[in-house]
Amino acid sequence: MRLSRYFLPLLKETPSDATVISHQLMLRAGMIRQNSAGIYTWLPLGYKVLKKIEQIVREEQNRAGAIEMLMPTIQSADLWKQSGRYDAYGPEMLRIKDRHDRDMLFGPTNEEMLTDVFSSFVRSYKDLPKMLYHIQWKFRDERRPRFGVMRGREFLMKDAYSFDQTPEEARKSYNRMFVAYLNTFERMGLKAIPVRADTGPIGGDLSHEFVILAESGESAVFAHKDLVQMGAPGLDIDFDSDLQPVVDERTALYSAADDMHDPEVFAALPEDKRVEARGIEVGHIFYFGTKYSEPFDATVMGPDGKPGLVEMGSYGIGVSRLVGGIIEASHDDDGIVWPEAVAPFKVGIVNMRAGDEACDAACSDFYEKAVQAGLDPLYDDTSDRGGVKFSRMDLIGLPWQVIIGPRGLKTGEVEVKARKTGERENLSPDAALAKLAG
Ligand code: ATP
Ligand code: MG
Repeated sequence: MRLSRYFLPLLKETPSDATVISHQLMLRAGMIRQNSAGIYTWLPLGYKVLKKIEQIVREEQNRAGAIEMLMPTIQSADLWKQSGRYDAYGPEMLRIKDRHDRDMLFGPTNEEMLTDVFSSFVRSYKDLPKMLYHIQWKFRDERRPRFGVMRGREFLMKDAYSFDQTPEEARKSYNRMFVAYLNTFERMGLKAIPVRADTGPIGGDLSHEFVILAESGESAVFAHKDLVQMGAPGLDIDFDSDLQPVVDERTALYSAADDMHDPEVFAALPEDKRVEARGIEVGHIFYFGTKYSEPFDATVMGPDGKPGLVEMGSYGIGVSRLVGGIIEASHDDDGIVWPEAVAPFKVGIVNMRAGDEACDAACSDFYEKAVQAGLDPLYDDTSDRGGVKFSRMDLIGLPWQVIIGPRGLKTGEVEVKARKTGERENLSPDAALAKLAG
């Protein structure tokens, strides 16, 4: 992409209502524009990051055996009356009436809808287990939308739902998601720790939140240091046999968030193992048994010929919240520092003297080759001053910058800068391409 043809509306001033760094940087870097409280337009740069995060989430859901589908954003209130949550959900639910005066709503989550779909098709234990998910916009009329996309009203969520015949099988599905989440967040360059959680309005008896540590986090996190430092199990894990030890190892180490924590248990940890920090919840998994299968009469015939209610769980990831969360975890004084896996472009090319024939030719040549090598470059071909180009590249945080100017061209070299470390290296254009493609 040539910057002169792109749509990258940067802001010079930091808007005063943006209090956390990720919100400030997303506005300044032209990633989002607020339309009304907690509702945003995703501008091209932000949308690219959102899509990359979504794709990682999708790949890891698929790897864990979940099957993608798509449910609507608008739901009939009848489903929610059937589960009893229509009244329980309160003012966070955006209620709508259609032209026939029927009660509709903008879905805040989809337990009811999918249980209803499931119960109308599945009859036998032989069809289980099943895990289904979608990645769809949700609406919650939050009391205090804030922190940009991290607490929006309209937000993109991945929500998966598991259906099993027995509690033991349901526990296995839960473990699949638990492990898939560890890998998902690790692929985005995040350290997400599983924290035992309250089940809240979703109900049920087993639940973990996945939190990333950041000063601006809304939750207090108390955790065992070993848990914070533990790596993800890795993508080669066998989802049919290797899960329980991974989950056990982590749940054995004490962790809790917000009002769920027990100060006495925490104090009993050795002092050098106590981590007390702020965290951002990026995912939340629940096992809730028959809470929804009961009102929707979602039963399957067991091997003994008798019908039984299916055991369910649900598993959310805040896809749009992650965009802000990743920036909270990865930025410096000059701007965003994208982990490569979610960067909007991998390489930024800076033409130090646009308009100079030799410089333009060298840049165009490098750009074409970078496109062919699959490096997804953003080429700053504008006539702005060098200083403006450098600070813009640093602000938008692409992992690599290639600076091409008359001085380097004399010796046939370009300068390659790593955004994260600031390290610079002079290389021939071919060597630079090989390095970036490697
Ligand atoms: P929170 O405690 O932050 O309000 P929640 O517990 O209500 O979140 P869940 O119902 O568990 O949220 O939703 C699953 C995921 O969706 C959360 O882990 C979070 O990442 C994301 N999410 C929830 N609410 C919002 C929101 N208002 N804006 C952006 N993402 C959200
Ligand atoms: Mg939650």
